[in-house]
Order: sequence, then structure tokens, then C-alpha cells
Amino acid sequence: MQNVVNHLSVCDILESIEGDEFMNIEKTWGLLNDIYFVRMGGTEEELKAARIIQDYLKELGLESRIEDFEVEMDQVERAELKVTKPYEKTYECTGFKGSMNTPEEGITKKLVYFEQDNPVIGKMAKDAILLVNGYVTLRSFPKIAKHQPAGFITYNGNIDTAREDVDLGEREFRSELKKYGEMPGVNIKIHDAMEMLEKGASEVTLTMKGTLGKGISRNVICDIPGKSDEVIVCTAHYDSSSFSKGAYDNGTGAVCLYGLAQYFVKHQPERTIRLVWCGSEERGLLGSHAYINDHPEELEKIVLNVNIDMIGSTMGKRIAVCTSEMGLVNYIDYDAKMKGFPIEVSQGVYSSDSTPFADKNIPAVSFARITPNGGGEIHSRHDVIEHLSKRYLDEDIRYIAEFTNQMANAFVVPVKKEMPENMRKELDNYLGKEEKK
Ligand SMILES: [Zn+2]
Repeated sequence: MQNVVNHLSVCDILESIEGDEFMNIEKTWGLLNDIYFVRMGGTEEELKAARIIQDYLKELGLESRIEDFEVEMDQVERAELKVTKPYEKTYECTGFKGSMNTPEEGITKKLVYFEQDNPVIGKMAKDAILLVNGYVTLRSFPKIAKHQPAGFITYNGNIDTAREDVDLGEREFRSELKKYGEMPGVNIKIHDAMEMLEKGASEVTLTMKGTLGKGISRNVICDIPGKSDEVIVCTAHYDSSSFSKGAYDNGTGAVCLYGLAQYFVKHQPERTIRLVWCGSEERGLLGSHAYINDHPEELEKIVLNVNIDMIGSTMGKRIAVCTSEMGLVNYIDYDAKMKGFPIEVSQGVYSSDSTPFADKNIPAVSFARITPNGGGEIHSRHDVIEHLSKRYLDEDIRYIAEFTNQMANAFVVPVKKEMPENMRKELDNYLGKEEKK
């Protein structure tokens, strides 16, 4: 017998599972457009986005609340970077908010390219100003600071992007980093970093003056109550980084939670679905950390975290990263194959709001559709809605809703509430806990 299978899109397959009135993609796409503006953690714009999300929920008949948390809102008054040897040139830079102030005239030091943490470079790094690859994070900074440099320079951008099309990123030196060492830091464009290396810049003067301050960021929380005590927390951050309107990262995840709200408001789950739009993720997962810190009594009831960070891109491949036992990895892998949903599933730590949950031994999975090189940029003005696809967004949200629905209505949640040793190690490393031996 010949079996003729018509070509079905993933969307058709999932639709046949879920029925046709699962989610209004036009409404969902509308929310994505409505929060399409720069909305950095702790700013008025972030609050504006939070209110818009609340309005959309209200329309569904869902109450939501905003939970404030305190964040650093340091300011930079003056930041300067000048190469003094073997040529003289002043480069455009931004100061790291919260990094140490220099004397008025700045500090003049030798410049060392800190390509990586390596004994050869380490020997040159003491009391130098280091040009560093990548971000200054809880993971990378201890490896820089241990060499006792006098200051650091980071850069941002893509060398293939015209200089004028690269925005000079605003960066911050978070207070958690200070225990490893305090020093001034500035950020420049990659084109200037390249020029300095090409021309053999060997001495620089760095000047930094700023003030420390506090502000408020916030999470938006909405419950769809179930019948049992158990809770599945679905997270997505809705803040963006500087100059980025954050369509892909993470307007898409933010509207995915709205898609879940549309579904579960019509299909009461067995377990409570708690939707948490996290603020200030881009500043170091601050919203999810705040949620975990502010609700210690709830942790016992949370059986799973489903996190969404960057889906719906036109170019890309789907991934699910499980910070859990392998059972969940295998389950999603098989389930997706049976449904015809192409996704690469792995065990690991995803750099997003799932991590603070996993750190509390709550199994977590992050869903994403990762763009290939050149297929879409994040954390810059190039993260635009034109690189996204309504069709892929619809498919991604349907699959995530379907998965969440299975977990919300499972007879028992099969995923163990504990972290395997390899995940515990990776988490400790990611969260900068490895020093504690
Ligand atoms: Zn993100």
C-alpha cells in the first residue's frame, strides 16, 4: 500500500493537535510591535513596556501585578581614552557605569591586549590597561582581575558593519564584580580596537568620572490558577540592551508568554501557570534573581521553569537547552520528532533567566531559535522586527504551549527536582561560584 503524505508545515501539524483557536497570532504580533522600542532595565521605557503587557493581559480578563526590585543606576559624567604612544589619538568611548574613578588627569599606563587568560599575557598584565575581548562578567572578570591590571577597555560591534552603523554600547561594572578588584573601564568600537592593535598602541591615558545611584526595575507577574498546589513558572525577559529595540531578544519571548496566556485562559491547567516577564535580564538576570530572592516560600511548589529567550527569527535553528536530568532532554527530543518539529535538544546552562531557577534545583528548559552568523544580530540597533517571521513565531509559540500544556496536565511531573552533578558544576561556573573551594 502506498502511503501518500501531503506536505504539512509544522504549523499545520501542531494546529491539528491543538485545534484552531489556540492563539491569535495577529494580536501576538501586535504586542511585539507595541513594545518595539529601547527598554533598558530600570528605565521609564521598561516600565512603559510592562504596562503595555499588563493591558494586553487585562484584555484577556487576566489580572497581573508588577513587582519592583532595586537596581544600580550609576551614571558616567566623563570618560576619555587617549593613545599616547607610539602615536597620539583620542578615541570615542563610553565609561563603565560603576567602575572606579580616576584622578582628574586620568591614569597613563602601558596597553596590553588581553586576548585570553594565559600565563604569557598574565605576566604582562600587572598594572597595565587591558584591551579585553568580550564582556566583563562574573565569569570573565575574575580571570582579568587576578592579574591586577590598572584598568580595562572592552569593545563592541562587528568589523563587517560600517563604523557609523555601530552604536557605542553602554556598559556597567556591576557591584558584584568589585570583590575581585576595583578599576576604571571604558568601552570603544571594534574598529578603533582594531586600529589600536594595528598601529601598535603601547601606552594610553584613561580618564573616568562617574557617580553611583539606585533605581527600580520590575517583573510583571500573572497567574493562571490550576487545581493543584504545584506551579510551573514560565519566564521571558522583556527588557532590551542599549540602542536595541529588542525585537528578537527578547520581544519574541515576551510575546510567547502572552501566547501562553491566551491558551491557558481558555484551558484551565491542572497545575498553576505563573507567567513572569523578567526585567533587567540584560543587566545580569536581575529580574529572575529578584524573583527567586523575593519568594523563597514558593520555591518548594515550583516543579519546572520554562524560559523563552529569542524565538521566531526567519533564519535560524530551534534549540532547547535543559538544565535538568537527561530525562527531560530525551523527552523533548522524542516528543518533537514525533510531532515533526525540528529542534536540537541538549543538556546545559543557557545564559538567561532559567539559570537562577536551576540554581535552586528547579529543572529548567530554555527554548530559542538561534540565528546563524549574519542572520540577525542582538544587543544593537540591528535587532529589528524585519528579521523576524510571523510564521516561525507562530510555530515556535505553538510548540512551547503544547509542551507546557503537557507538563501542566501530566499525571505527575516526571522531571526530577534535583540537579545532576554536571549541571551543578556548570551552574556554579556560570554564576561565578567556582572560587569557593
Ligand atoms: Zn535575551
